[in-house]
Amino acid sequence: MSDRMINKIVLVTGGGAGIGQAACHAFAREGARLVVSDIDPASGSATVDAIRNDGGDAHFVQADVSKAADVKAMVDQCIETYGQLDCAFNNAGIEGDVAVPITEALEETWDRVLDVNLKSVFLCMKYQLMHMQQRGTGSIVNTASIAGLVGGTFGAAYFASKHGVVGLTKAAAIEYGRAGIRVNAVCPGVIETDMADRSMGDNEKLQDVVRAQYPLRRFGRAEEVAESVVWLCSDAASFVTGQSLAVDGGFVAT
Ligand code: NAD
Repeated sequence: MSDRMINKIVLVTGGGAGIGQAACHAFAREGARLVVSDIDPASGSATVDAIRNDGGDAHFVQADVSKAADVKAMVDQCIETYGQLDCAFNNAGIEGDVAVPITEALEETWDRVLDVNLKSVFLCMKYQLMHMQQRGTGSIVNTASIAGLVGGTFGAAYFASKHGVVGLTKAAAIEYGRAGIRVNAVCPGVIETDMADRSMGDNEKLQDVVRAQYPLRRFGRAEEVAESVVWLCSDAASFVTGQSLAVDGGFVAT
């Protein structure tokens, strides 16, 4: 453990599983105090319990990030609990239908994917920035994806939502730089989480084909993304803003 995040209050969405859960543990190891948020109270509370068992400080707040009232209440509760918000990792997301061409895609799925993956980042930043602006400091990291940097087949809503997160991240960084706030995104390649399991299942042939497209010839681990997120949030990245960092084993370099 080091102390890169000592005295920092950090809010993580989607903290109950996968990349968000790994980020919560990474922030806690670096000394941060956390608000762990998730739509699923069981998994989010489990993350909090695990952090507390390790001697850390964390609180769970249930929120559906696609709902403005939930997001406002989540940020308000962070301020009530800890008095401030230094860093936010806006990470919750869903994959939608991953094997459906545009001509067969459902409007309801499009709306849900865009709401959970893109509108959520707008809503989170809206309430986080209001608070950070008053203090003249803050750092935000949004989860995009390699699907925010390149196109692909069968999952147009997901690609569109993640390209949107990359654009929104740049816009926020430009708007709020003068207020002393940095805004960046991480763009993971395939990371071994429940989401990747749901997308590829136990189709080993498909996994081999996808893995072969990665220069490092493997998928990533949630902890590897978490490390980048902590770095981007920390003062070590004090001159980095508006960036969308690929954490992808070299995928977008090919
Ligand atoms: P995951 O499914 O393992 O975990 C996602 C978490 O978000 C879950 O705890 C879930 O309950 C929560 N969540 C879902 N909808 C929510 C909502 N409406 N409100 C609040 N919480 C909600 O997924 P993951 O792989 O950890 O993905 C995290 C982020 O990383 C997502 O934005 C995803 O698009 C992105 N991403 C994942 C991969 C990958 O290969 N796993 C690659 C690139 C980007």
